[in-house]
Amino acid sequence: MKRSILIHPDPRLKKLCDPVADISDDLRKLADDMLETMYDAPGIGLAAPQIGVLNRLIVLDCVKEEGETPRPLVMFNPEIVSSSDDLNVYEEGCLSIPDQYAEVTRPREVEVAWMDQNGNAQSEVFDGLWATCVQHEIDHLDGKLFIDYLKPLKRQMITRKMQKLKRERARA
Ligand SMILES: [Zn+2]
Repeated sequence: MKRSILIHPDPRLKKLCDPVADISDDLRKLADDMLETMYDAPGIGLAAPQIGVLNRLIVLDCVKEEGETPRPLVMFNPEIVSSSDDLNVYEEGCLSIPDQYAEVTRPREVEVAWMDQNGNAQSEVFDGLWATCVQHEIDHLDGKLFIDYLKPLKRQMITRKMQKLKRERARA
């Protein structure tokens, strides 16, 4: 089932999310809904707070090439175990901040540990777009948005645009 995505500014996007203790069928269903919502948007990552659920759960799939096999990843309680000193700049966007993009600098490589939908511990080193995406999504679980990395003026400009968008949507 597709869920609706919260648009910034929203207090739920600023919250520290709670860890997940056991992977229940409800949580598995939630992860499926998040993947469906993400692919439909379309996007390459989605965090539970973006649909108003304050649990430490993210989904991602950074395979973008036509014809390549999709690689949906579901991560409960994802944690960055180590990051490279080497940095990388990507133009980031966010499904909660539609049509706004800005360059963000982050570690080029990160090792992430998480629990998968079967309750198994996993870890993997990500680089390139995957590394950027997984860091962006984990930030959401700590109430942090990519615009928090920008200069205040730019951030305020984007926030004002989003407030206007929300007013227009509420009126429609
Ligand atoms: Zn985002």
